[in-house]
Amino acid sequence: MCPPPQGGFQGPAYTQQVPTTVVVHSPAPVLFSTALQDVSGQAMCPHCRQTVLTHIQPTPGLLTWLLFGGLCLFGFCICSCIPFCVESCQDVEHHCPNCRRVIYVYKRMK
Ligand SMILES: [Zn+2]
Repeated sequence: MCPPPQGGFQGPAYTQQVPTTVVVHSPAPVLFSTALQDVSGQAMCPHCRQTVLTHIQPTPGLLTWLLFGGLCLFGFCICSCIPFCVESCQDVEHHCPNCRRVIYVYKRMK
C-alpha cells in the first residue's frame, strides 16, 4: 500500500551529450626546437603533437643572399650561385616526418 515515491525523478536517459567546449590549444611552441640546429634533432611537433626526429631541408636564407650579393658585387657572378648549393651557407628547415609541416627554421643569421 505504500508505492515508492517516484515524483520528480526524471534523470537523464543517458543521452550522449558531446561536450561543446573543446579546448583547442594554440600551436604554442612547446618544443625543444631552440636546441635544433643544422642537423636533424628531436622535437615535439606543434601540429600533430608527436615527438619526432625532424627531417631537415636546406633553404636559402639571409646569409645565402648576403653571400650571393657580396660575390656579385665583387664580380664573381659565376660563383655567386655557390651559396645556394652549399648547405652550410643556407638556413635549415626542420620538417615533421608525420605531418610534413615545418616545425622550426634554423637561421644562420638572425
Ligand atoms: Zn607533425
